[in-house]
Amino acid sequence: MIFVVSGPGGVGKGTVVNRLVTLVDGLRLSRSWTTRSPRPGEDPKAYVFVDRAQFEAKAAEGGFLEWTEFAGTGHLYGTPRPQGDMDREAAEADLLLEIEMDGAQQIRRDYPDAVVILVVAPSASVQQERLRGRGDSEENVARRLEVGRSEEVLGRRLADHVVVNDDVVRAAAELAGIIESYRKPMETT
Ligand code: 5GP
Repeated sequence: MIFVVSGPGGVGKGTVVNRLVTLVDGLRLSRSWTTRSPRPGEDPKAYVFVDRAQFEAKAAEGGFLEWTEFAGTGHLYGTPRPQGDMDREAAEADLLLEIEMDGAQQIRRDYPDAVVILVVAPSASVQQERLRGRGDSEENVARRLEVGRSEEVLGRRLADHVVVNDDVVRAAAELAGIIESYRKPMETT
């Protein structure tokens, strides 16, 4: 199955997702490709960092499940199609994507069985503080809040579930419960 966690910038979805994968077995977090540069101190494995030509070449050969230019940044982001050469455990795992709303819409269109979960901040002021905490400029914070507002409206229409990230531990546990609820009960012999 494909599980999509989406939501506006500053809702803390990355932190929630990182905790979620420690809670649920058999869940493989997809590593996206991006044309943006690594942030100072960012884990070099957070993304596959590539230039635009490399990204476009992969997109042209149908190498992404979805890809988009992230609102107003000029940077491309995409979910690589899972490779055939992975081990059995990885191949059988459910796929977890942490992506923005345009990508979530593409997944919904192409994979109607995918489960889309929207993560939202408990309030606009918390979201603003989180965006500021990342060291973004005030202009960037304002722009991302603006984009975030329309993303949330869209997301609420698209999503199967909405989770409020009021507390990372609680929100990750709620997400884990949602994912488990889609899994078939273990067959008894
Ligand atoms: P950031 O640059 O802050 O890491 O990510 C910017 C936005 O891009 C976030 O909302 C993140 O969820 C989203 N994103 C990350 N990877 C992908 C991807 O593969 N596809 C899409 N559509 N969005 C992504």
